[in-house]
This record gives sequence, structure tokens and C-alpha cells, in this order.
Amino acid sequence: MSLKVLKLSAQGLPQSWISLEHAVLHYASGEVRWEAGAQVALFRGGTNAITGLVSEIRVNSIIGTKGVPNINPFDLRPGLTNEKLFSRDRNICAYCGDHFHEHDLTREHIIPFAQNGRDHWMNVVTACKSCNHKKANRTPEQARMPLLYTPYIPSLWEDFILRNRRILADQMEFLMAHLPRHSRLYA
Ligand SMILES: [Zn+2]
Repeated sequence: MSLKVLKLSAQGLPQSWISLEHAVLHYASGEVRWEAGAQVALFRGGTNAITGLVSEIRVNSIIGTKGVPNINPFDLRPGLTNEKLFSRDRNICAYCGDHFHEHDLTREHIIPFAQNGRDHWMNVVTACKSCNHKKANRTPEQARMPLLYTPYIPSLWEDFILRNRRILADQMEFLMAHLPRHSRLYA
């Protein structure tokens, strides 16, 4: 994954991870209201015929753009993917407690589909293949395999951390400042 710029609304809510090229367009069209973090790129444009100066656009790692998305960050349900789930659970199997490479992990439904369990953040944990196989279509109680940690729904800020594998230190600091206390990303 290449370097991304964290785009925020004018109010400071995370909007998206965008490419450097996309960020330049925001600068060029005058949509950047404020910046945070450090400069991550410098783009040079053409030479001004009158002044002889070369136009430059400096891109920062965090930019606030105009536009007012009227959202409550606490109402959002981040989309569930295996990649984000494994990151939420720090690649640790909820049943044996061992740490695994993502290729050896599975999305485990606490209440199984066979018993009307749903595919939702609150009903899924990370499990290794062998524990998932062993538990099969049973609840943790039925299988006598107690959960070593509990599931939770990531916040908007946490979701932005889970989505990007190459977060810069200043971007991480900004997002971490908003994490709820129960987040496992603190560990
Ligand atoms: Zn396991």
C-alpha cells in the first residue's frame, strides 16, 4: 500500500485515505482549509511566464477540506472485513490465545450461522483454523471453549486505523487521540 493522506472534514472527522495525487487536486482547487502533521510530498508545476516562479504544492499528511458531511461518528457501523477483524483482534485466536499470520486465521462466528448467528462485529472474533474447526457449529458454551476476549464495534477513528497498513506516525497520533478506552489498539 502506498503512502496515503488522511482527509478530514472541516470539523475534523475522518473522511477517507486518499492518494498524494488526489490530495494535490484538493490543494489546487483551494479546498484545503487546514493542515496537520508533516509535509509528505512536494509537487512542482509549470513556470509562471510573468514572475518566472515555479509553482509548487506541498502536501501534508493530514488535511482538512471544506464540505460538511452531517454524520455522527458514533452512529457509524464500519464495514466488516477479515483484514480489519484480524487487526482489531491483533491476529490472536480468541480460543487458544496464540498469535497467527493472517493466512492461518478465520472469521469465527460466536453464535454460529446454524444457530441463527449474524455476520456482525459483535458476533465475530478471530480464530485459528484448528480452533474454528474444533468449535464447529456450536456456541462457546456448547463447545466448552470460552472466549479469551470479547468482540466490539470499532469506532470511526479506529476503523481508519484498521483500514490502512501504512499509517504515518503523526496520522496515527491523531487517530489514537480519539480512540475509546476499550479499544484493543491501545495495547
Ligand atoms: Zn486457536
